[in-house]
Amino acid sequence: MSQFAIETPTVVALPIAGSQAMFPVRRVYCIGRNYAAHAIEMGHDPDREPPFFFQKNPNNLDPSGEFPYPLHTSDVHHEAEVAVMLKSGGTDIPLDRALEHVFGYAPALDMTRRDLQGEMKKMGRPWEIGKAFERSAPVGPVRPVAETGHLDQGAITLKVNGALRQEGDLNQMIWKVPEMISYLSEYFELAAGDVILSGTPAGVGPVVKGDTMEIAVEGLGRMTVSVV
Ligand code: MN
Repeated sequence: MSQFAIETPTVVALPIAGSQAMFPVRRVYCIGRNYAAHAIEMGHDPDREPPFFFQKNPNNLDPSGEFPYPLHTSDVHHEAEVAVMLKSGGTDIPLDRALEHVFGYAPALDMTRRDLQGEMKKMGRPWEIGKAFERSAPVGPVRPVAETGHLDQGAITLKVNGALRQEGDLNQMIWKVPEMISYLSEYFELAAGDVILSGTPAGVGPVVKGDTMEIAVEGLGRMTVSVV
């Protein structure tokens, strides 16, 4: 007989390129406004103020290649990002040791119900209803750092139906990967299985059913996601 009183939740596991093993997910942190041009397009000052984070749920990550158009919105936006997968963690991780905790990287989309997020912002309420909904974070195969090296520069682009919508370079991130890890570890205990979405460059915008999104990150390859 099981020790649990109810059906046990499934561990969310993401495919790893070139491996039978999967990457198990513990938590998902997302940084906001990490590219100056995107901060400006959202109506904010791009000055380097302290970073801020919100969370998605582990099972919002979706490697299926399909994004079902969500309920209760008429303005779902794409945000092309890089996911950083941790193999270990801790608290108060010094900047110069931060990258030792990285297992790998993957292309990811921080899909956003922009209309709902906007209402929450106006009312000073949390963003979950705009950000942490079902299948809101399509993610490509995880590429181990042993294969890719650490990603501190390189083009990141997003096309919708072949037309370029977002374009940036990872070297434009206001808070770099080691800084995000170190900063988060001052406020949370990081651990193996944690995932950090590193923010999006300018050019976010809506998609509709039938669209095909293609994110490409130099060093990580491409991921195609259909809006269904
Ligand atoms: Mn984002």
